[in-house]
Amino acid sequence: MLEELYQKVIQRDPAQPEFHQAVQEVLESLEVVLEKHPEYRSARIPERIVEPERVIMFRVPWVKDNGEIVVNRGFRIEMNSAIGPYKGGLRFHPSVNLGILKFLAFEQVFKNALTTIPMGGGKGGSDFDPKGKSDLEVMRFCQSFMSELFRHIGPHTDIPAGDIGVGGREIGFMFGQYKKLRNEWSGVLTGKGREYGGSLIRPEATGYGAVYFGEEMLKTRGDSYNGKVCLVSGSGNVAQYATQKVTELGGKVVTLSDSGGCIYDEEGIDADKLAYVMDLKNIRRGRISEYAEKYPGAVYTPVDNSLDYNPLWAYKADCAFPSATQNEISAKDAQAMVNNGVILVSEGANMPTVPEGVNIFIDNKILYGPGKAANAGGVSTSGLEMAQNAIFSSWSREEVDNKLHNIMISIHRQAFEAAEYYGSPGNYVLGANAAGFRKVADAMLAQGVV
Ligand code: NDP
Repeated sequence: MLEELYQKVIQRDPAQPEFHQAVQEVLESLEVVLEKHPEYRSARIPERIVEPERVIMFRVPWVKDNGEIVVNRGFRIEMNSAIGPYKGGLRFHPSVNLGILKFLAFEQVFKNALTTIPMGGGKGGSDFDPKGKSDLEVMRFCQSFMSELFRHIGPHTDIPAGDIGVGGREIGFMFGQYKKLRNEWSGVLTGKGREYGGSLIRPEATGYGAVYFGEEMLKTRGDSYNGKVCLVSGSGNVAQYATQKVTELGGKVVTLSDSGGCIYDEEGIDADKLAYVMDLKNIRRGRISEYAEKYPGAVYTPVDNSLDYNPLWAYKADCAFPSATQNEISAKDAQAMVNNGVILVSEGANMPTVPEGVNIFIDNKILYGPGKAANAGGVSTSGLEMAQNAIFSSWSREEVDNKLHNIMISIHRQAFEAAEYYGSPGNYVLGANAAGFRKVADAMLAQGVV
């Protein structure tokens, strides 16, 4: 039956391979769940859960500094609101299309269900590329984007946040436009600046969370980060704070990357070097290649599209935190990592490993934390930001970090226990899918056919 459903999903939207990939992984995990719970099957929960509740697609016209008019496309996928208002990030990247956002929204539903905070799943964005644009161009784009999106969102309806290409600057511009159009201050976006309702630790949360999740996985084998060599990909929000937390916990991060290439620094990216990366990426908006000019001990390898592997994953290490984008670890990369002695993969990015790669990790008993569990710290802390906005209060750094840490411990426990219960101990993919699905499915059952 699930194979039939999977084929139907492909037939309905044949041009959405990333969405098919995300659906396939969840449906595979659900076989064992549906065996124990036929009530989900008869209520057609799988059929309902793969179909977005609503898809919004719109024109985003804006004016460049030189007077040229550009038209981008905007999207918001409101995937599932069974357990709370739609919640999920906005991605601004030229690769953005409906299929990629549907995959992200679908993953978000299960991820949010694991956070212990009542949040449904959504995702949105645009094919706009903030790279190389002036601040004023980014502002005009964000204002135009929000001039349509504002009528579909709200603090009890749909609360977007950041993702690739959407950081504090973009959230600020969109929040300003929403406030102007609605004449209302509300916590309608998360990832806001500290001065206007943002939460401490939200910028750090996804990277820290992925490291906390990895720490829990290591503990199941009586191990820790102490002395571990770690690979991190990306050099944006998630990569930066994953690097910071791993270093704090005794590990040594030796790689970072961007869409141009990767750097390898055998001595490790310590706090000073990370401060340089943060300035380079967040303020000067430069390329990671500049790291190797600044630190001559480091090696820079530009992307070579003729290669069938990513050189970053070929360096010898113990742990890996993919934190750039989807499908950045191929089967060949995964095999190289296993051969090189990697024992832990905790995904900061969403779906960074192709399905064959995931199977290689699982078959080799790698501690493998899939994104929908391991990177849930970001949305969890967004949930904490919403809670603070709702009570017009703000919590201290320690308070938010403690809550984040406890949520990651709880997510790990839910995934770990579900994997055992459904007969695949240590399989966090099955565990996260099953535990997230059950929470949403029970809520859908309770609410009838809507
Ligand atoms: P940023 O925009 O801050 O950073 C993204 C990084 O990944 C940049 O270094 C970017 O390089 C690189 N990158 C992006 N696309 C590609 C690509 N196609 N090929 C190679 N490199 C690429 O985004 P985030 O750090 O916020 O997001 C990273 C990942 O984490 C994404 O998968 C996102 O969905 C996921 N995530 C983020 C959360 C958050 O709270 N921010 C929450 C949960 C998941 P360049 O600058 O050259 O584009």
